[in-house]
Amino acid sequence: MDIELRKRKEIKQETIESSWECDQCGKSTFSTDYDYLVHPRLHLGCALEAENQGHSIKDQYLEACEDIPDKNGTVTWQFNQEDVEG
Ligand SMILES: [Zn+2]
Repeated sequence: MDIELRKRKEIKQETIESSWECDQCGKSTFSTDYDYLVHPRLHLGCALEAENQGHSIKDQYLEACEDIPDKNGTVTWQFNQEDVEG
């Protein structure tokens, strides 16, 4: 295996992992199941807590929404109104 290629890959992985951090609690979301995330930068639990204090999940999502590298490129982080209203 090409050593230089492997080095680049490791750096990229670190970059991805460091991006996956909750805006609310500052903890990593990288190993959190997708079901428990509103966004790579927002735990569902943290979002619900903030919502109780009058900060809507939609607003939180829009604030967190940036170009986050997906783990595998297949998950899209589109806000779904039904998830909140349902
Ligand atoms: Zn959190």
